[in-house]
Amino acid sequence: MGNEFKKVFSVKNEIYHKVIQIFGLKIKILNENLLKQAIKNFDNNIVKENEQKEILKSLEPEFRNYVIDNDLYNMLLKLKPRNAENFIAEINLTDHCNLNCQCCDHFSPLADEFYLDLETFEKDVKQFAKLTCENVMGGGGLSLIGGEPLLHPDICKIFEIARKYFPQSPIWLITNGILLKGNTKVLDAIQKYDVYLKITQYPILNLDFNWIENEVKKRKLQYLRLFPNNDKISVHHPFDLQGNVCKYEYLRCYHFNHCIALRKGKLYTCPLIPYSEHFSRYFKTELKISENDYIDIHKAKSFDELARFCAKRPDFCRYCKVKERNSRKFALSEKSILEWT
Ligand code: SF4
Ligand code: SF4
Repeated sequence: MGNEFKKVFSVKNEIYHKVIQIFGLKIKILNENLLKQAIKNFDNNIVKENEQKEILKSLEPEFRNYVIDNDLYNMLLKLKPRNAENFIAEINLTDHCNLNCQCCDHFSPLADEFYLDLETFEKDVKQFAKLTCENVMGGGGLSLIGGEPLLHPDICKIFEIARKYFPQSPIWLITNGILLKGNTKVLDAIQKYDVYLKITQYPILNLDFNWIENEVKKRKLQYLRLFPNNDKISVHHPFDLQGNVCKYEYLRCYHFNHCIALRKGKLYTCPLIPYSEHFSRYFKTELKISENDYIDIHKAKSFDELARFCAKRPDFCRYCKVKERNSRKFALSEKSILEWT
């Protein structure tokens, strides 16, 4: 009966059409939504390509040749200042951590115990919100990170302050999750202040994700589990201690103008610059941080000033051998300088 029916009636989906066949007669119906989406993607690609062309034209000839020779055309949009809507600042609530990962790009295995004080946090968040939300309600946003942010004794107060100044913007908590199980006080605050919970799954931990995800479901939290297949690796970000890296190499860097770090009133295009202080202190080297490496948010007059600053190469990039970055099997840190050089 089924096969007989198929002989007289069938429906087939083609890329932009549905083809209905009745008694050998074919009717093609346009799938408008798919077609509209394809046109939108096409338009977006044209806009993107035009923007890339404009940026390429604006570069000094030597930089332009570097981009062409190394086929870095797709990286060019990093040089475009971000919009307020997608300008998120990462803030270290602690510098130390209850895990000890090799090659940590916040240098936590080398850091002394440090807890961000509430006054500094509130002062900075208030000013950052003023600049990013001035013209856009729901502009900006915060990523609360570390070290391990759940080690901070005033974490619930921190959520409250963050939400006070960013009533409509995303607030993320990035944690390794070790301190989450049974921590109803923190989970209540995450729920109350609508914090987006992001847990990175580390291969050496055996967290009770059943318990955590049950709570997440019960409380209807916004939630993301990173590396759920236990495939987290370590990424080696080597420094050149002499600071002789090619001045265009930063264009390949995934931190640049993406993992924007706010630290004690200063904004950096990436976290390696401010937190390299732990590396320099521990190994008694001196990676110089100059005035060109940050912008003081309390002196900046407008959001545009922040956005333009973060899209410009800081001097510190001379230390980062971005081309030599590589991944390796996850392991704990032995605090060897080779993990960062
Ligand atoms: S959990 Fe994150 S912050 Fe802590 S040591 Fe590992 S990579 Fe660094
Ligand atoms: S200093 Fe430059 S190259 Fe190094 S991580 Fe930061 S943005 Fe990337």
